Formats: sequence, C-alpha cells, structure tokens
Amino acid sequence: MALALDKKTYDLFINGEFVKPQSEKYIPVINPATNEEIAQVAAAGIHDADAAVAAARAAYAGKWATMPPARRARVLFKIANILTERTEELAHIEVLNTGKTIAGAKGEIGQIIELFEFYGGAVTKLTGSTVPSIPNYFNYTLKESLGVCAQIIPWNYPLLMAGWKVAPAIAAGNTVILKPASPTPLTALILGQICLEAGCLPGVVNVLPGPGATIGAHLAQHPGVDKIAFTGETRTGATIMELASATIKRVTLELGGKSPSVIFDDADIDAAVAGAVYGIFHNAGQSCDARSRLLVHERVYDAFIAKFVEKAKSLRVGDPLDPKTQVGAIISRAQLEKIEGYVGIGAQEGARVACGGTRPDGALSKGNFLFPTVLDNVRNDMRVAQEEIFGPVAVVTTFADEAEAIRLANDSVYGLAASVWTQNAGRAIRLAHAIRAGGVAINTPFSIHPGMPFGGYKQSGFGRELAMQTLDLYTETKGVVMYTGTKPVNPLGV
Ligand code: NAD
Repeated sequence: MALALDKKTYDLFINGEFVKPQSEKYIPVINPATNEEIAQVAAAGIHDADAAVAAARAAYAGKWATMPPARRARVLFKIANILTERTEELAHIEVLNTGKTIAGAKGEIGQIIELFEFYGGAVTKLTGSTVPSIPNYFNYTLKESLGVCAQIIPWNYPLLMAGWKVAPAIAAGNTVILKPASPTPLTALILGQICLEAGCLPGVVNVLPGPGATIGAHLAQHPGVDKIAFTGETRTGATIMELASATIKRVTLELGGKSPSVIFDDADIDAAVAGAVYGIFHNAGQSCDARSRLLVHERVYDAFIAKFVEKAKSLRVGDPLDPKTQVGAIISRAQLEKIEGYVGIGAQEGARVACGGTRPDGALSKGNFLFPTVLDNVRNDMRVAQEEIFGPVAVVTTFADEAEAIRLANDSVYGLAASVWTQNAGRAIRLAHAIRAGGVAINTPFSIHPGMPFGGYKQSGFGRELAMQTLDLYTETKGVVMYTGTKPVNPLGV
C-alpha cells in the first residue's frame, strides 16, 4: 500500500481555515526512517498566535460554550466516526512523520476514537450538586467551561496527545489552540480539519505549528488564554508554569518519567519478560510512561536477564510501514545521538552493555534506528537510572527484598507509572499503594485506558488525563447561594 501524503505544504489552521503564516515562513517535515523531507509546514509567528486566540475567544463567546451538551456530544461522536473512516490514511501519515510502527500508529488512533466517544458520553453526565444548606437557603454548584485553552504537545505521540487534550476540552465547552511539536505537526492539523467537518464551529479548534520557545511561550503568557495544558519535558513544564503565573492561568502538566518494572521472584518469569520487553521497547522507547528501569529480584536476576536479552535481540527493527516491524525509528538524528551518548555514559559508570547500543546498517542506516539496548549491573544512583533517556534503552538493577524494591522504585524525581510482576496478591496491593506514581499496573505493561486517570506524581507533573476527573480540570465550579426565607436578610438591622 503506498498512500501518498495528500498535501505537501501544510498551512496553519485558524478559525476553520488553512491560512498562510504572516511571516510566510515554512519549515521542512522529515521522515525519521529515511531523513528525507516529506512536507513543508507553516511556522506560526506571534501575530498568527494572536489571530488564533482571537478566533478561539470569538468561538467561545459564540455558541460553543452555551450549546446543549448533548449537541456537543454528537460532534464528538462524529469526530470518532471520521477518525474510524480515515484510520488507514492517518496511520500512514503518522508513520511517515514519526517513524513509529504502523501497528503502533493504528493502535493509537483506535485509542483516541474511544476517547472521543468516552468524552461525548461523559459530558452529558457532567453535573453540579445541591449542597446541604442552613435553614432558608438553597445552595448548589454549577459546572462551567473555562474559556480558551492553549494545549502544547510533544512529538512522540502527535495524534494521540492531540486527542487526549482536545476531546475533554471541547466536550466541556471550551475552545482550543493546539500547538503540536515542530517535528510532528501533520496529523494534529488534520485533526483540526476533522473537528470542523464533524460540526465544531470555526475557531473551536485551531492548530498552530510553530517554535515552542516563541509561540508556546507567547500562548503561556497570553491574557486571552485561560488555561495551559502542556505535555513534554519536565524542564519545559517548569518554564511554562512560570510564564503562566503572571495571568494566574489554570495549568496542567504531563511531564517526563523514569518508570520501573518491578519483577519479584514469585512472578511468572516468561510473562514478566514479555511485558517488560513491551514496556520499554514499544514506540522505540520514546514514551513518557516507558518502563525504562527494570528492578529484578536477585534470586531470578540471571534467569530473567538471559531471557530478556534474548527477546530484546529478537525484536524486528525495520521499515516502520512493514506490519511485521516491532521497533521503528527514533525521531531525529540528534535524539539518536543523545541516546547513544547515554549508552556511553552507562558503560563509563560501570554498567554492562548486554545487547544493542549499535545502529543497523544497510538501507536502515539512512534513518535514525538503534537496536534495542539493555544495560545491566546498573546501580540506581547512576545517571542512566535517574535521567530520562527517551529511547530503546532498558537499565536493569537488582534488589534483595520487598522493602528494597519499594525504596528503589521511589528513588526518582519522577513518578509517572510503574508495573509490578508478582503472583502474590497481597504483595501486588502493597506495592500498588507504596509506589509514588500516578499509575501502577499489576502483571501488565499497560496503564493507559480511556476512563482511567493518567498523570504524574512528583516531577512527572500534575493534573489527570483520560478520565472523568479531567473534566474538572476543564471546568470551573461555581457556588450559587439562594435565600429562600420570607423576611429580608438584614444582619446590620438597617
Ligand atoms: P518538549 O518539552 O521539548 O516540547 C513539548 C512541546 O513544548 C513542543 O510543542 C514544544 O514546541 C513546546 N515548547 C518548547 N519550549 C517551550 C517553551 N519555552 N514554552 C512553551 N512551549 C514550549 O518535549 P518533547 O521533546 O517534544 O517531548 C518529549 C517529552 O515529553 C519527554 O520528556 C516525555 O516524557 C514527555 N511526555 C510526557 C507525557 C505524559 O503524559 N506525561 C506524554 C508524552 C511525552
């Protein structure tokens, strides 16, 4: 199947139209599997950002916020239908733009289809409450939308992250300016167009590719923006928090991670190996919730490592469009070199490179590929165990007992996710409660399901996505107090 990109030049999507950037500046979009240019994309400037904010404000003040929730729900269901019809085409574009595998891209689109359906259903159940009152008062709360939300997303899951952000925001009656990461703008722009086609008013979803340091920062400070929802690196999140403070914007941050897979000696070792392999190597390790640290009980360490390395070596690294490929490309040459740098740092720190650490040759050498890499003999205080590598690199550490496993799992500035492999139900629950992370998965590498809250503890951020609680982060709660008595309220007796 050779679907071509339907458009070689992508403009900004503002107020329901594709428009040229004021600067007329375009930047190349590169396929990480070949390092060839596949498209040109407009780079928004400050004036374009202001135009997008104005469009989002006008759409908010227009009919979107006051539209009955059931009608907004219908729009979300329609978006899900169009995504379903266009899955093949969108997955193809996502693969060309990110180097991720075609199977991975289709799975991600399936997930956001469910998510638009989830929030379409959820928004008609979003209610305030009546509050027990003192005599002669009737008190209740209202859920109201926030206004204009700027949503800044990373390059590792361009369409998935766009869906995670846009679906709850527009369901709750907000309008958005979505800023995709510069290397991966294509499917976010198409999502903007799909939202319009499904019935979003012009200006409800604006998509603004452009440099984070100027456009992202401008949106974070803009007085016309009510909320910033950011996903990306922890350091960038800290900058955004600071920029948003002057106008007291609502802020939610989904940041980095260094999540553990904890493997006990009572685990089904083959199941733990299979899960841990997926946990780190899916999306070539470029996942915020990648289980990049493996903590293995000393009694099963040797047996586990032997099987884990064998399976890591057996993974098919290759053309991301080939359905049999299991590990695709790294987003850029610079990111590949950064990952290789970490392998060198690990070796200098005393880790053993048990497999990988090298690039495939032949046709793949044009792209940014790295064989799945396992570093063992790692201590948790090494840089490779503490810093986010964001590539297909697993670091393996041993522990002696449950208390040490918990201590090591929590010995990180991050707290996004964890997996625990054990057949002991009591231990599973103890670990789930003791690990300081937003999500703990027992005997599975998956902790992302529409409906389940996803987000960070500690420096992995705050706020939750994918769940009912997310709607609280896209609404204000207003308290209404009504006097129902027969005599006037006159406390000063005037
Ligand atoms: P990044 O922080 O470099 O960029 C993310 C976005 O922020 C991009 O759109 C970028 O243009 C923009 N940006 C950059 N500087 C900015 C500034 N000063 N002001 C405003 N916006 C700015 O992150 P990345 O390299 O694109 O993505 C990888 C990171 O994202 C990893 O750390 C990963 O763990 C994290 N991530 C987290 C989650 C999660 O849900 N917790 C999900 C995916 C990725």
